[in-house]
Amino acid sequence: MDELTENTTFADLALRPELVEALSSLGYEEPTPIQRESIPPLIAGQDLLGQAATGTGKTAAFALPMLQHLDAENRSKNPTGLILVPTRELAMQVSEAVHKYGRALGARVLPIYGGQPIGRQIDALSRGTHVVVATPGRLLDLQKSGQIRLDKVQYLVVDEADRMLDLGFAEDLAEVHALTKDRAQTMMFSATFAPRV
Ligand code: AMP
Repeated sequence: MDELTENTTFADLALRPELVEALSSLGYEEPTPIQRESIPPLIAGQDLLGQAATGTGKTAAFALPMLQHLDAENRSKNPTGLILVPTRELAMQVSEAVHKYGRALGARVLPIYGGQPIGRQIDALSRGTHVVVATPGRLLDLQKSGQIRLDKVQYLVVDEADRMLDLGFAEDLAEVHALTKDRAQTMMFSATFAPRV
């Protein structure tokens, strides 16, 4: 591949045409630095640790490679993509962003968080999904009651890892990780990389 420079476009990143079109209709003219650096290795299947604050474009950096591999036909209550986030606000926001990027591909994205009636989330799961964006506690409640299995997850994102640990989610994170496929592609984003992260 040619060296990636500041002139790199989304088309140079070899994204599916539906994704390139979605980005241009959103008015994104070029990838941000985190997108330029993360998207090629993620599309190639590598794991990744990214240091990125909110506002840098990190959501698209992990969402676009996930959508690149999406098989729209393969919709089920057991997702192939899982994005873990620390808060309900972030679950809604990330889910909305992934939905927007993946709309033309037919991507089904479901946010799952505590505070919303669980029955509604169970109904939505039973209609089938590709990507779940979840806070760890509610996700594990659904898993333990047999409403969702995580062993089909091929693509696992931990967003805002430092905030997750601040909120006491370390054990839940380890538990979710253990439930996903052995070879799930895993990426973690954090604003800081203190040793505990
Ligand atoms: P994030 O850091 O993922 O929360 O993204 C911050 C904001 O930047 C969001 O409103 C995105 O819609 C927007 N954004 C992400 N990538 C790009 C891009 N390549 N060009 C312009 N805006 C972007």
